[in-house]
Amino acid sequence: MPDLPGTDGTEAVVRKELAIAVVSELNLILVGPPGAGKGTQAERLTQDFGLPYYATGNILREAVANGTELGRQAKEHMDAGGLVPDDVIIGVILEALKQDEAADGFLLDGFPRTVPQADALGEALQNAGRKISAVLLIDVPDEEVVRRLSGRRVSKAGRVYHVDFDPPKHEGRCDIDGSELIQRDDDKPETIRKRLSVYHEQTEPLVEYYESRDLLRRFDGTRTPTEVHDHVRATVATLRLEDEL
Ligand code: ADP
Ligand code: ADP
Repeated sequence: MPDLPGTDGTEAVVRKELAIAVVSELNLILVGPPGAGKGTQAERLTQDFGLPYYATGNILREAVANGTELGRQAKEHMDAGGLVPDDVIIGVILEALKQDEAADGFLLDGFPRTVPQADALGEALQNAGRKISAVLLIDVPDEEVVRRLSGRRVSKAGRVYHVDFDPPKHEGRCDIDGSELIQRDDDKPETIRKRLSVYHEQTEPLVEYYESRDLLRRFDGTRTPTEVHDHVRATVATLRLEDEL
């Protein structure tokens, strides 16, 4: 490739490589109503792109199970289907994103869930010279949420199944570690309704928030898990390519 007039070829190459190193960080956020399939897709995407995965619901459930201070602060809100206070959860995620393993990218699931959480994340990333690559919205209507959450079963390690749509090979047992599958307390009908209304009131405003920042990508979550995955993966792969050009 001929040098551009007045530029040093080597310097241009070095500069391009540096630019790729900076922009190819893949900082992704999954958003969607409870039961949209965020966890199901996250499991596949973390494998596709080798990203560390931070699911605030899983982090909080583990804290509750271990009886930590975080768990103590979170439990009553989770049981009632409400949100854990912003200041409690923001600190947890900002700490996680400072770890070395998240330096080249991350996949967030279930965070941010409110506008103050989104503001705090945006500010922390900006202060670190980083930015969000894309916000992936997986959308499903409320009736489908109810169907999915009432049939959701989870393993101790957090692997997700559905009694009809994605049953385990042996009823009630995880395919991977054989542990007993359980129904989450907050997947009971009354709590599902409450969580849906909390989603519409507090989390849905993030759709416009990220749309106005040109970060939102929408996916039809009513398709099969494989179809949804194909669409999301193709979009994320394109993002990476666009960044490198
Ligand atoms: P979220 O993390 O958004 O709450 P999950 O990934 O836990 O959602 O999925 C909720 C339930 O719906 C689970 O039981 C899962 O097996 C099932 N599920 C996920 N994606 C689909 C899909 N595309 N079609 C049908 N069922 C699905
Ligand atoms: P779902 O799979 O239904 O999307 P999660 O597992 O992400 O639900 O979250 C379970 C519960 O944990 C929520 O109902 C809420 O009480 C709490 N939680 C998770 N993430 C957040 C967050 N970012 N802010 C406040 N509360 C949260």
